[in-house]
Order: sequence, then structure tokens, then C-alpha cells
Amino acid sequence: MPDTVHDSPEVTAVRSEARAWFDEHWDPDLSLGDWWERLAESGWGFPTWSPEWYGRGLSSRLAAVVAEERKRAGAFGPPSGIGVMMAGPTIVAHGTDEQRKRFLPNMVSGKEVWCQLFSEPGSGSDLASLQTRAVRDGDEWVVNGQKVWTSGAQFSKWGILIARTNPDVRKHKGITYFVIDMDQPGIEVRPLKEMTGGATFNEVFFTDARVPDVNVLGEVGEGWGVAVTTLAHERNSLGAGGMGVMGGGEIIGRPDLSRRVGDLGNASSGSGEIAGMAAAFGAGGGSMIKMLPQLFGKGADPVVRQDVARIYTLLEIARFTGLRAQAAAARGERPGPEVSTGKLMASTIVRTLRDAGLRIEGPHGMLHGSDAPLGGMLQFLALFSPAVSIAGGTDEVQRNIIGVRVLGLPGEPRPDKELPFRELKVGTQTG
Ligand SMILES: Cc1cc2nc3c(=O)[nH]c(=O)nc-3n(C[C@H](O)[C@H](O)[C@H](O)COP(=O)(O)OP(=O)(O)OC[C@H]3O[C@@H](n4cnc5c(N)ncnc54)[C@H](O)[C@@H]3O)c2cc1C
Repeated sequence: MPDTVHDSPEVTAVRSEARAWFDEHWDPDLSLGDWWERLAESGWGFPTWSPEWYGRGLSSRLAAVVAEERKRAGAFGPPSGIGVMMAGPTIVAHGTDEQRKRFLPNMVSGKEVWCQLFSEPGSGSDLASLQTRAVRDGDEWVVNGQKVWTSGAQFSKWGILIARTNPDVRKHKGITYFVIDMDQPGIEVRPLKEMTGGATFNEVFFTDARVPDVNVLGEVGEGWGVAVTTLAHERNSLGAGGMGVMGGGEIIGRPDLSRRVGDLGNASSGSGEIAGMAAAFGAGGGSMIKMLPQLFGKGADPVVRQDVARIYTLLEIARFTGLRAQAAAARGERPGPEVSTGKLMASTIVRTLRDAGLRIEGPHGMLHGSDAPLGGMLQFLALFSPAVSIAGGTDEVQRNIIGVRVLGLPGEPRPDKELPFRELKVGTQTG
């Protein structure tokens, strides 16, 4: 809760400016699109981003104050999803001013949805072994290959794509990073059915798809370095801290908003996994775990109390970790390898929430959908929980990153590191 009595002068100033703005501009009768546009123009949607690019350059502490004031006014948060979580910070860090001006406005206002075209059938953890090819043709590139697990591709206008542009150099070289228009005949999106019942991620096939040279982000052949920026932001935002600062969680428990979010909100959030993460880390997870013991008369059970206290503590630590990392990103700092700890924490929180929640629900935990308590939110989370340990890099990969890049332990042997990509027998490479 805001502590207006003990606020510093700086906090007081931001609080009163934000309060005045939200009081004046939040209107529950606005469409979500109109609201997001207002938020984007004002800089209050992403207050830690730089003022030049749709923010206010505020610290994480002050951004938390803005979020308090937004919630106090009952206003919905900014769009979330791959655009603002990953593509935006990458474009700010590596793009030209022309690219920033072209792509950011419709991203921050939620008008255009983005997807991430990185993983391939043979290249997930070993992403640098990717085989999708891009070949230059005048002032365009021609793309052929296949991506997989592409969240939200069916809703997306733009994709951040990494493709091999030079197979004669070692695998981490010769990769180029593109922004590709998804709306073209050379791209076919095929949804994949998930065990949650949804179909939010996809296979994406490229057959002579086209991308103009002006959409190369960074230098040709240097896309791996650009991709590492995206991956760091991905780990950070999918990590335990990330969703705490996203708007997605606020949909849960707000039927008035969920109804109005409709397609725009689902599309902008990009996917069911955002909803799943939001259920765990946004307002959903925190309020769910507070509600459940009372609902099932188990508030006096010492084991339940311990579980609840543990989850609540983890969520609070995660929230502040996320805000700090978001502010660092806004200062143009790429999240470091230490964000892998937050990603691992996310896996722990989701599993703990799932296990404790289902234990509290008892036999009701076996119900599904609208028959289940809280509309089946916990059951959805239980089915979704394995994804958290995989998406954005598996738990094993995060541990490797922490071991090698944070703790300075020896790395895995990498005999393929210096060989030209063409000589490797990787994934589904046939020759
Ligand atoms: C919900 C969800 C959404 C996703 N969305 C997207 C998206 O939008 N765009 C996108 O590009 N990708 C997306 N992905 C893909 C995701 O990034 C990959 O699934 C992930 O990187 C793992 O790759 P893989 O599935 O190929 O598994 P593999 O790399 O084949 O790994 C298989 C197993 O081997 C282990 N392993 C692999 N290498 C090592 C190692 N060196 N040391 C120890 N263990 C190892 C892994 O931990 C894992 O247990 C999504 C995945 C999920 C689950």
C-alpha cells in the first residue's frame, strides 16, 4: 500500500503527478486500444523506459509508485507480450533511429503483435545450430526453413527472426537478425495443440519469404549478439520478477476487464503462456494463494500456512527483482547472466503454487474448467507448469549459465565451436 506519510519528496512528486494523470485520463468506458494509446503517449505505461522512447526514465522504486497509483485509479496496465518484453528492448539497443520510429509506436500501444522466430525442430537449447536460411536478393533477403514453438505467431504482424546468412563460418557467426512481416504468402503458420487445451504456439514455415534489407537489426552476420540481448530480456521477463511488472496478471480477478480485453488483449499478450505466467506472478497468483485457504477452511492448518507464507514471500522478492531489472533495461543495460536465477525462481514458484494449491483444494482439485474452484485457474496453472521450466531456456540451461557465466566454473566441452557451420552434423541438417 502507498505509504504517503513516509514518502520522500521525490516519491511524493511522482505520486502526485501520476495520480493526477490517472485520475484525469483513466476512463472505464474507453476501449482497451484507446486506453493503451493514451498510456503510450503519456509515458506512464512504461515509466522506466527512456523519455525519448515512450517512457519517463524513472527508477524501479518510482515505477512501483506509478503502478500503485494506476491500480488505485482502477486503470488497466500497458500491453504485455513478446513485443514490449523482448523485441522492444532489442530494437532500442541495436536498432537504428528509423527502425525505432517505425516499430515502437504500434508496439507500445498494443496495435501490432510480435512473435519470436528463434527455436527450430533441431535447435532449441543449442540455438546457434539453427538452419533457417536467408539469402540476399538485391535489397531484400529470401528466407526458407522452419521455426517451431512460436508463441502468438497466428496473431502477429511482426516476427523477430534469426536466420543463417553464412554457413561457411562458425555457427555463432553467420547468423543475421531480422524483423519480418508475418503477413505475406511465403509464411505459413500452423497452430500446435497444447495439453492446457489451448493452441497458442505454432510451427512456422518459410517458403521464399521476403524481408527487406532495412529490416536487418544490427550487422549482417552479427545476429547472435543481437539475439543474446533478446534472450536476456526474455529470461528476465519470463523470470519470477517479470510478470510482477506486467499488466497481464491484472486481468485475472477483474471480469470487467477480461470481457473488454477480448481479442486485442489476447493477441497483444501473445499467448496462453503469458496468461499462465500472469496467473502465477501477477495479481492472480498472489490473490489466489491468499484466497484458497479461506475458501477451503484451511487457514488454521500449519502446513498450509507455511506454504502460503513461502509463496507470498517468493512472489514479493520476485516483484522487486523484476522492477529492478526493468529499470536497468530502461537505462540501456542488457540484463546480465544473473537473471537466470529469476528464471529458475519462476519454475520453483509455479511448482510450489501448483502443489500447495491442489493440496488445499483436495478432491476439488480434480475438477476442470468452470466446474473447478476459481474457474479452474489453478488447474490451468498445473497443466501449464512444465512450460515454465522450458520456455525461454530450460532449467538445465539456466543452471549452466549461472555455473559458467556467474560463478566462473569451467564450461562444457564445445568441440564444434570453431568449425564452420557447413561441416557440422547438427539437428536435422542433411548436408
Ligand atoms: C510455452 C513455450 C513457449 C515457447 N515460445 C517460444 C517462442 O515464442 N519462440 C521461440 O523461438 N521458442 C519458443 N519456445 C521454445 C523454447 O525456447 C525451447 O523449447 C527451449 O529453448 C528448449 O529447446 P528444445 O525444446 O529444443 O529442447 P532441447 O534443447 O532439445 O532440450 C531437451 C532436454 O535436454 C536438456 N539439455 C539440452 N542441452 C543441455 C545442456 N547443454 N546441458 C544440460 N541439459 C541440456 C534440456 O534442458 C531439456 O531437458 C517456447 C517453449 C515453450 C515451452
